[in-house]
Amino acid sequence: MATASAQPDQPPGASDRARFDAVMTPNYAPMSIVPARGEGARLWDVHGNVYLDFAAGIAVSALGHAHPELRRVLAEQAGKLWHVSNLLVNRPAIRLAQRLCDLTFAERVFFANSGAEANEAALKLARRYAFDRQDKSEAQAPKDQIIAFDNAFHGRTFFTVCVGGQRKYSDGFGPKPGGIVHLPFNDVAALEKTVGASTCAVIVEPVQGEGGVTPARAEFVRAARACCDRHRALLIFDEVQTGVGRCGALYAYQQLGVTPDILTTAKGLAGGFPIGAMLTTGEIAQSLAVGTHGSTFGGNPMACAVADKVLEIVGTPPMLDKVRARGALLKQGLAAINRQFEVFLEVRGEGLLIGCEMREPWSDRARDILNACVKHGLLALVAGPNVLRLAPPLIITEEEIARGLTLLEAAVGEVAAETRD
Ligand SMILES: *Cc1c(COP(=O)(O)O)cnc(C)c1O
Repeated sequence: MATASAQPDQPPGASDRARFDAVMTPNYAPMSIVPARGEGARLWDVHGNVYLDFAAGIAVSALGHAHPELRRVLAEQAGKLWHVSNLLVNRPAIRLAQRLCDLTFAERVFFANSGAEANEAALKLARRYAFDRQDKSEAQAPKDQIIAFDNAFHGRTFFTVCVGGQRKYSDGFGPKPGGIVHLPFNDVAALEKTVGASTCAVIVEPVQGEGGVTPARAEFVRAARACCDRHRALLIFDEVQTGVGRCGALYAYQQLGVTPDILTTAKGLAGGFPIGAMLTTGEIAQSLAVGTHGSTFGGNPMACAVADKVLEIVGTPPMLDKVRARGALLKQGLAAINRQFEVFLEVRGEGLLIGCEMREPWSDRARDILNACVKHGLLALVAGPNVLRLAPPLIITEEEIARGLTLLEAAVGEVAAETRD
């Protein structure tokens, strides 16, 4: 579907991309296309080529690009108040915190600017809560153990990246913080054997996103809740990727039937404007007493105004029903593609967070599929070498899903044919 306009001798994209490499640190390896504008689930590059967006950033642009209501709210707030610091309160932040409390288990909210920072706050709070409750008069073993899972992803600050379960992201930056233990994901026995008196928190993604779009099994999450209760540890759900309607409930815990003590949310929360939040109960929140934690930009009025509108739009039953229905439709189409080419071992995920695990001999070729998709005008994601990840905006229409599946079918067909040769 990529329809190129007349290209000048020196394509603007090519020179932009070369300049990127010349002026940026080399920690990313972006694609060659240079997006110029977006609308809904469509994105145009600087040449005028159009792409259907099944990536939404990385599960961020929940309401697609340039949503008219979000543009209006942002422009309105921009004309009033951008920033005041946390020495003052601001109304958009108060409204957003109130809405988050109304819509979830939470009684208190801390605002940050990213998922990693929300998790950093959650992990610090869990350590501090355990510290506050320990009897300091006796020589007790410290209650500071954080239990996390292999392949988990919790962000890139040094604490969160060390809690994450992919050592390649934290190796070489040491010395690493201690008191962090990794267990196999979805392994109830390992959890029950390891959680103990010294555990202060268990942190888990309801669906591992970066780690391969792997849903936590219900009995695993229930076991985590029970272990935490037994040993007075806090259960933290990292819903940075699964939250804000992505999995078909406003927050995934609401359809898992297990309530955490702390929940973190970010990616889709302000539909692409940077924000993160940590949600918790009134009792646990007391351990973040005055001066214990903070953020210069956290609770920014612009981000909070937009996020409040996102939650107003996403947090309605018809919208969430639609996410589940569109997710089911997408999965059906992926199953049909797989009947034709037999490249996927499994298609999994919840709502509009879907992973297609590649089977032999394509098991390390998810990125080749992604690159073929881009050539056909479809933006997608990967989650590791063997999983193609799809996370379209939640406002995706049935027609756009059909169109995306047609483009994906062409891309998969190409890669499948290459490998068979
Ligand atoms: C993306 C992600 C993060 C990190 O969020 P940033 O905004 O990049 O800091 C943390 N946890 C999960 C589950 C994520 O998907």
